[in-house]
Amino acid sequence: MTEQHQRICLVHYHEIGLKGRNRANFETRLLKNIEAILAAYPIVTIHRISGRLCVFLKEGTSRATALEVTDRLRTIPGVARVSCGFKCERDLQIMGDVAVNALAECEAFETFKVQARRNHTDFETNSMDMNQIIGARLCEAFPEKGVRMKNPDITVGVEVVQNAAYIYARSIRGVGGLPVGCSGRVVCLLSSGIDSPVALWRLARRGAECIGVHFSGRPQTADTSEYLVDDIAHVLEASGCIARVYIVAFGDYQKEIMLKVPPSLRVIMYRRLMFKVAEEIARRERAGALVTGESLGQVASQTLDNIRVTDASVDIPVFRPLIGTDKLDIIDDAQRLGTFEISSQDAPDCCTLFMPRNPETHAKLDDVLAAEADLPIDEWVREIADAAEPHDYKCASYKPRKRKVSE
Ligand code: ATP
Ligand code: MG
Repeated sequence: MTEQHQRICLVHYHEIGLKGRNRANFETRLLKNIEAILAAYPIVTIHRISGRLCVFLKEGTSRATALEVTDRLRTIPGVARVSCGFKCERDLQIMGDVAVNALAECEAFETFKVQARRNHTDFETNSMDMNQIIGARLCEAFPEKGVRMKNPDITVGVEVVQNAAYIYARSIRGVGGLPVGCSGRVVCLLSSGIDSPVALWRLARRGAECIGVHFSGRPQTADTSEYLVDDIAHVLEASGCIARVYIVAFGDYQKEIMLKVPPSLRVIMYRRLMFKVAEEIARRERAGALVTGESLGQVASQTLDNIRVTDASVDIPVFRPLIGTDKLDIIDDAQRLGTFEISSQDAPDCCTLFMPRNPETHAKLDDVLAAEADLPIDEWVREIADAAEPHDYKCASYKPRKRKVSE
């Protein structure tokens, strides 16, 4: 019976302040992002239906595949909720049968209610009557379950539009936020650690197109961290949250700094150079901000004094979405995101290379500038940005520039 009706997933979004042209842009962006992410699934089409997007699955799609599609949908930025169900004829008998099937597919629940809407008054039964008729049919089919008007476990949605009815019951929360591509572009300093993938994801969830920059210790260390970053990028790619990662071989520059700069200032100097390179890549990519996974006081370089001295190396705004987040909460986020296991693997990167025993925790800008004056920083920045290797990931809104621009 169920397999005869076309499966649908209704995608709900509810950002406050979505008005006028903003709303149209948001919907088009979300639709295109979903289309790209679900390209491998049996989708017929995606339409806007009364303030929601409706994903139509091919006839005969199994429940298991529909569940997979729902699981993918809920991770896509901009998706507040996903409801699964069926499209059927505008016939109360059939609608009742389909509602029974939709409710039968829900996991453990005790109470339910029916919420019917009719968008076209050419359907003779009004919403109240539909609630009654379909509600009665469900009570008959599920005598052990209770009807509850306030906060039921499941709300069975019934929507009658011009040529069809949509009926859904299983409903799960999505990650919310805004569709990637709605809020400009940022460059994220992406290590293979736990924090920076979470920081990147936070910005992607607010609609930013994210480009990673990873500083590898190569050629002074192995390239293990580069593979871990690629694995992390693939996890982020599954929900369209990353567009590109630049891999930078940073080892030789660190070695130069190590040879010329007092040990206590080395970490700050590495970081200032990393920021400057990221800023140069942001300029070439037309990105508006940098993003890091720093959290106040977590390690020596993340004191207020040191943050000020690293910030002073660039003009572009630096966002630190995790600055006030506790490590355990970041770990929870990384686990939900699916990057935690990868990030927990050990890999030498530029952070572990040439680390002094006692890094300065309260660096002074004058000392740092004096130490930097002996180094050809601007030349290095250009050279490093020119040599950075781009790796592309699927992100529907991002159009990579054809040629490297090194002006
Ligand atoms: P993470 O878990 O993100 O590596 P962390 O707690 O290890 O962070 P640090 O190593 O001090 O902290 O790094 C702080 C931030 O600097 C990182 O979140 C990241 O944004 C950036 N960063 C550190 N190392 C690298 C790297 N090798 N490549 C790119 N960015 C880096
Ligand atoms: Mg790190």
